[in-house]
Amino acid sequence: MRYAETGYHLEIDLSRGSIDRVESDPRDTELYLGGLGTNAKILWDRVAPEVEPFSSENLLIFGAGLLCGTPATGCNRTIVSTISPQTKLMAFSMMGGFWAPELKYAGYDKVILRGKSPDLVYLWIHDDKVEIRDAAHLQGMGATETADLIKQELNEPKAQVAAIGMAGENRVYFASIEQGRSSASRLGIGAVMGDKGVKAVAVRGTGDINIAQPVEFMELCHEVLEYIKFRNENPIPGVMAILQGLGSPQEMAIHDEKWHTENFMWGNSRERRKGFWTDEVKSAWTQTMEDMRTRLISCYNCPMKCGATISPPGQPTYMMKCFSKLTYTMAAMSDLDFGLKIAQHATEYGVDGFSTPQVMAFALELYENGILTDDDMPGLPSDNEGRFYWLLDKIVRREGIGDVLANGTYWAAKEIGNGAEEYAHNNIKKHEQLPLKLSMLNPIYFLMYSTGEKINITQIEGQFPQAPYPKREQREEFVKDWFQVPDEKFKQYFVDWELRGENSIPYYPTAQMCCDIVDWQEKMHYIDDALGMCAGLSSFPLKPPYHIHNYPKFISAGAGITMDEDKLSQAAKRYRTLVRAINISRGMRRKDEKPPQNHWKKRFPELEKELLDTYYKFKGWNSDGIPTKEFLEELGLDYVAEEFIQRGILTDGEDGPAEETTLAELAQE
Ligand code: SF4
Repeated sequence: MRYAETGYHLEIDLSRGSIDRVESDPRDTELYLGGLGTNAKILWDRVAPEVEPFSSENLLIFGAGLLCGTPATGCNRTIVSTISPQTKLMAFSMMGGFWAPELKYAGYDKVILRGKSPDLVYLWIHDDKVEIRDAAHLQGMGATETADLIKQELNEPKAQVAAIGMAGENRVYFASIEQGRSSASRLGIGAVMGDKGVKAVAVRGTGDINIAQPVEFMELCHEVLEYIKFRNENPIPGVMAILQGLGSPQEMAIHDEKWHTENFMWGNSRERRKGFWTDEVKSAWTQTMEDMRTRLISCYNCPMKCGATISPPGQPTYMMKCFSKLTYTMAAMSDLDFGLKIAQHATEYGVDGFSTPQVMAFALELYENGILTDDDMPGLPSDNEGRFYWLLDKIVRREGIGDVLANGTYWAAKEIGNGAEEYAHNNIKKHEQLPLKLSMLNPIYFLMYSTGEKINITQIEGQFPQAPYPKREQREEFVKDWFQVPDEKFKQYFVDWELRGENSIPYYPTAQMCCDIVDWQEKMHYIDDALGMCAGLSSFPLKPPYHIHNYPKFISAGAGITMDEDKLSQAAKRYRTLVRAINISRGMRRKDEKPPQNHWKKRFPELEKELLDTYYKFKGWNSDGIPTKEFLEELGLDYVAEEFIQRGILTDGEDGPAEETTLAELAQE
């Protein structure tokens, strides 16, 4: 009997119209867990490095995490993996909501899409009954609108529907997949879904999941709920509001946005907006939120209520969470009323709430600087907010300049030329980031930005505080109940970290300490992504209810796999390395591992080199960032080592690079 997982994948070939229920190999669960881990294994095995994102040979995998569908609180993530049109590397974006547990109850751990449908279709998965259905009548419809219509026509109000909007249909590189109370937004996975001709995947499941040791498992769940209650009643003092508690940043509940609006560079800006948060702004924004926010809502089996339904006057209700509240507003230098209204359009179109405002701000910056002209933007309205609506429509339809901008700032700048590349200053590995423009290099963040392959800083940070407390006594107090640390040394790292002086950034934490910290933070995110756990209850907040000490117990009691901390860490290292191997085989190298340009004013090239050198060594990678043969074999990834040698990426017996292709070179091909 299989526990926690169903043991079956649904394989759908859209070119042939075939549907197969395929048993998965339980040994893969032991080695790669599930969710992201087994998604990466499938991509490695079946999608060759030469396969382009919009090739019918590219796969789009919807993988429910290993513990999704069990009673584990907050375990509801679907990990969607494919090759990204934006980066041409592996993409693994996640969505919360209710979709993954529903898929498990229908009897599947993954839906694997290959090929392309000649006509627009949607998939209907209802326990054993699976159909490919015509979606011609849904063409051009909004993502939420589509979900509602599908539920109506199926007469299944409880079906969970993941859908794309017009952006996905038109293969916009930053198109998202929207799913009721969540979305998988980063890296253009919605564009791959559109390219495959799939408008939506609707699921309804009425089965059960087996738990290996139900009594022990429920006790663990109970402990987590107790700790969530404790944490909610005891916010962490001395850190900003969104870091005090649990969950996704509680942007729907808080009104005080002074810190975020004044300290972040929004849109495509290089300047902070000091003095922005006046009493008038605060009162207007609070009023807008109170008027439009109809309800706070949670994902499946979670008490945290991080999202909200937003009902702008005269517009349909939609779901919002986290920083989409600010991204449109701040990129347009407008107000919250505008931000909440345009976000409704953007959600229906199905676009990433981080990249989209930045791409639009980038276009207007080019226009203001004469790089784009009236000839490029015929009909551009004269008012600022009107321009953002105009650009959004052009982009999702790929009309005129929108066709160029729909490829994101990196590719658009290349195509526009005439100095436009100077304005695409906020990318890592060709993907837009939150443009933090800070003063002093932060060595921990330098490593996370440069080497993270999820390509989103919030999906690698967490666990270790972002900055030291000013006083040693405060730091000593903080570490007293910090039982989540994997090793006591992390407490000392923090206690000794000072705001100024010898033990301050950029030279403290030392390179070795930074390796430990970044590795811990990344490991927790990768474990979440394999188990299907929301980062908001594990890898993102300080002092979370899920951590390296109780996760092995959840896996043992839930999935029936004998697990301890070392084995879990080794599994996470294995599939993390596999993600890197996929990207290395696609040409990613050290030259591509850079933080966003101008992210910090004060840079330290020698220290940065030392950080990368030390981290690569620590991770088992050679000086070009390629996992060494020895390290791959230690992880049981001999098949990767063999492939690397065959392709000349590694040479047999050496750890030196044999190939120097970079993303930049690939881009010129
Ligand atoms: S913590 Fe928030 S984002 Fe995470 S599962 Fe719960 S409600 Fe969803």
